[in-house]
Amino acid sequence: MSLDLFGNVQGLNRLAKRRLKNLYRKREPLHSLVTVETARQLLDLSKEIGRQVGILVTRRGTIEYVIVGDRERIKIPKLSSARLGRARFRGLRLIHTHLNGELLTKEDLTDLALLQLDLVACLSEDKGLGGEVVHVGYLVPQNRKDALWDFLGPMPVKELHIDFMDFINDLEDEFVKARGFQYEIDGERERCLVVSVPPREMGFDLDEHLAELAALCESAGVEVKDVVIQRIKQPDPRFLIGKGKLEETIIRSQQMGIDLLLFDRELSPSQIRNISSITELKVVDRNQLILDIFARRAKTKEAKIQVELAQLRYILPRLGERDVAFSRLTGGIGGRGPGETKLELDRRRIKQRISYLEEKLEEIRFVRARKREKRKASSIPVVSIVGYTNSGKSTLLNVLTGSSVETGERPFSTLNPTSRLIRYPYSRSIILTDTVGFIRNLPSVLLEAFLATLEELNDADLLIHLVDASDKHFEEKIVEVDRILSLLKITEKKKILVFNKIDRVDRTFIHRLEERFDCVAISCLRKEGLVALLERIEREIAHSFFPVELA
Ligand code: GDP
Ligand code: MG
Repeated sequence: MSLDLFGNVQGLNRLAKRRLKNLYRKREPLHSLVTVETARQLLDLSKEIGRQVGILVTRRGTIEYVIVGDRERIKIPKLSSARLGRARFRGLRLIHTHLNGELLTKEDLTDLALLQLDLVACLSEDKGLGGEVVHVGYLVPQNRKDALWDFLGPMPVKELHIDFMDFINDLEDEFVKARGFQYEIDGERERCLVVSVPPREMGFDLDEHLAELAALCESAGVEVKDVVIQRIKQPDPRFLIGKGKLEETIIRSQQMGIDLLLFDRELSPSQIRNISSITELKVVDRNQLILDIFARRAKTKEAKIQVELAQLRYILPRLGERDVAFSRLTGGIGGRGPGETKLELDRRRIKQRISYLEEKLEEIRFVRARKREKRKASSIPVVSIVGYTNSGKSTLLNVLTGSSVETGERPFSTLNPTSRLIRYPYSRSIILTDTVGFIRNLPSVLLEAFLATLEELNDADLLIHLVDASDKHFEEKIVEVDRILSLLKITEKKKILVFNKIDRVDRTFIHRLEERFDCVAISCLRKEGLVALLERIEREIAHSFFPVELA
């Protein structure tokens, strides 16, 4: 424990400093929120130096910090996040003086909530009420009342007869119950709150945008608990949205047991740093979410390295000054680091890792270029499904492989979840693989990483290009998929265009599609058209894989 004083200590004489430091020797009785003696001592010191004085007290009654403010306010030092869990408070309570007899302020309550303090108490002098008066604020779960917090007092300290230990334990239990979970299970999906800041363009379809984002979260194994839609005239250069709104959002998230704040657009490096500096929640923007999905889906060694490189390059300028920020950013989503790395990296180590990976990439490319020529012709044909996120790729994979029991769950939860063997027809096998989905408005900085994850398509014998027939933008998307495939130089592969979700469009529309395109129309939902699709697959690969045996 350090014996430093925190805050504004300039202009204090030595005696005052010593008396303040002596507070560190105190130990509050376990069951007392604050004793009359401590209250008296703080008020006297405060009056003497004409400033607010505060202490942060642990559950054991020891004093972790003594803080000196000015007349109006006190600033809490950066606290270690060690004790911070999902359902628990920080295990520190703030007890501080007010010089002008005012009650708890909005600022006090914001600190309480943002820092997840056990409670915050202010002490003041009131002759009428009999000397030392205390006003206590504490957080309450969402279902208890509309407000975020509740109060004890103001009342004389000597009449504060609560047992602090019971009080705080009961309160924590109440939070745990309200959130509906007891313990964090390893590998449990992260609980996320989406902060959506829709652009003010004409014709922007918010529902469609949010559906896409939800699909991305699904792919990243993130559970969206709530969406806050924030319309702004001008993005705030520091926090994207207004600071007050941000604080409110953070507090609400904490109350809901959220782990992750996801912004649905790109945050500048300084915005991420600023937002991270006022909350312990993980702060992630859309690009990081997408990179995380790529990291999960990358299969080849080269793709994994490329994606990790992209992640590290993205993170580097976004690292804050504080250690915690490092681990939060480099912790990735779901506690995973970039790529396969689980390390907490600092700037220097990130730079080292980047150059290591760059070298490694060179090596692999060299070796692979020679290997590719003698790629063995596998005896089992590989069929890969490509298409935009949300077109139904995972659903199709599940339906065709008969593992549809898993629909609705995270489709990528097993070891090699995106490749399955189907035996159809006549007990012949094909390997069906799902690929990372195409994403609308893919930022150009992510293009290379995206292409890397699609590298596996080189090994496919046939592509299924899946299109959501009910999507207004389906034509643009078809063109875009073809464009990317040509970037990958795999245009010469056989391809079947498949329209999915025909249950959502009318018959005539389907007929027109069938006239215009050489395609198969299906509905995974109603299991329509699947036999036709399988027959078509069969036809396309029959020549290369199932030579007709002559008797
Ligand atoms: P992916 O991102 O391409 O893997 O798409 P998903 O397989 O996750 O499906 C996206 C959404 O479309 C899910 O909500 C599915 O339930 C839904 N979906 C898939 N196939 C159909 C279909 O044939 N009809 C309808 N109405 N919805 C479907
Ligand atoms: Mg999918």
